[in-house]
Amino acid sequence: MVTRKSAAEIELMRRAGRIVAEVLALVESELKPGVTTGQLDALAERHIRRSGAVPSFKGYLGNRRYGGGPLAFPGSVCVSIDDEVVHGIPGERVIRQGQIVSIDAGAIWHGWHGDAARTFIVGEAGPQAARLVTTTRLALMAGIQAAVPGGYLEEIGGAVEDVARAEGFDIVRQFVGHGIGTDMHEEPQVPNYRTGHRGQKLQPGICLAIEPMLTVGRADVETRPDGWTVVTRDRSLAAHFEHTIAVTDHGPEILTTV
Ligand code: MG
Repeated sequence: MVTRKSAAEIELMRRAGRIVAEVLALVESELKPGVTTGQLDALAERHIRRSGAVPSFKGYLGNRRYGGGPLAFPGSVCVSIDDEVVHGIPGERVIRQGQIVSIDAGAIWHGWHGDAARTFIVGEAGPQAARLVTTTRLALMAGIQAAVPGGYLEEIGGAVEDVARAEGFDIVRQFVGHGIGTDMHEEPQVPNYRTGHRGQKLQPGICLAIEPMLTVGRADVETRPDGWTVVTRDRSLAAHFEHTIAVTDHGPEILTTV
């Protein structure tokens, strides 16, 4: 069931979203060669808890649709490097110059979720990596712009797909965006491509996490033996951007912003 959130509920999601955006900005400021993914995770968790929120990923149990193994996710953020697409587990791994690093963060504020991700370039990356990261960000923004009241879900995926295809990048299909509210993953699923069905009508109060994942090579993915980390089968680079948005009378509003 797709639920429509009230103005008061969206305000709570805005608070959750602001904390998530602050986490991403904080991690960006500390994302340098030599730092470990576990150090970034600790920074993120501290900020979330000091803000009075709860990290939504920590202890999250995987499921068939949104991935994950039999073990609860141990971190407060996902850190996915280079050919890792999503759900990288933070730990001892050391960040290196030239890597592209996706940070995905989630926070719960008074029972309401915010969920966002950005891919950062550590120092300087090659032109193809830079173009992948830029294109994935622009694909997300195009998807958000399509989230207008009276529109349909298919238009979001179509907008993302057009931006990705124009630059020759492939789109991960195994993982998709989602409705969001009192649960991190609610109905509807939000594909990053056209399905051939117009899908859910977009009405004010519908809140979505839109999250394109694009790859330089083929977008076939597999999960590492850790049960979580999703990588491209051909080990090509992947990028991932995500915002939580609300469909409002005036158009889409990004909730995961400061
Ligand atoms: Mg998400």
